[in-house]
Amino acid sequence: MSPWIVLSVGVVIIAMIYSMRHYRWVKTWALLDIFSGLMVTGKYFFKRKVTTQYPEEETPVSPRFKGMLALRRYENGEERCIACKLCEAVCPALAITIEAKEREDGSRRTTRFDIDTFKCINCGLCEESCPVDSIVLTPESHYCFTERGQNILTKQELLMIGDRYEDQLASDREEDKDHR
Ligand code: SF4
Ligand code: SF4
Repeated sequence: MSPWIVLSVGVVIIAMIYSMRHYRWVKTWALLDIFSGLMVTGKYFFKRKVTTQYPEEETPVSPRFKGMLALRRYENGEERCIACKLCEAVCPALAITIEAKEREDGSRRTTRFDIDTFKCINCGLCEESCPVDSIVLTPESHYCFTERGQNILTKQELLMIGDRYEDQLASDREEDKDHR
């Protein structure tokens, strides 16, 4: 390789290093980073605010939101669950305990349907496996327990939660029906 080429490449590399150092020096002493940050602040100062004043305001909840568990009924008040135990079998956290027996009319119904919410990971697999759309995850995310044992939701409690959210559950399913 010609010594002139080697010399030219060397000069270019030295010039690049020098200009980078120079640029950093100017950037530091001219406070360019602070001004670029202030420009971002100024840009958003006059835009519509996106901060939500929680808890007075809440963001919209997806129809697929996986919140508190519930059991649904049909419109005539009959519980949907047919005690097939698919949800109990599919639950990866073993959170569901079901006992069942046949009723006088020959239909099969649960006598015990407990969900341990401490074990539940809100995965939604029970909801997906249910053939009659009985067990569901509601949009409710604000709940807490204050005493030992309240983490076990019984059948009656689950049905009560389902009754409370039925309108919302029905409209969420209608909205999402093309993807179910
Ligand atoms: S949401 Fe998942 S973890 Fe919770 S009860 Fe259903 S299947 Fe089990
Ligand atoms: S909730 Fe659904 S999947 Fe679970 S036992 Fe009842 S009918 Fe079967």
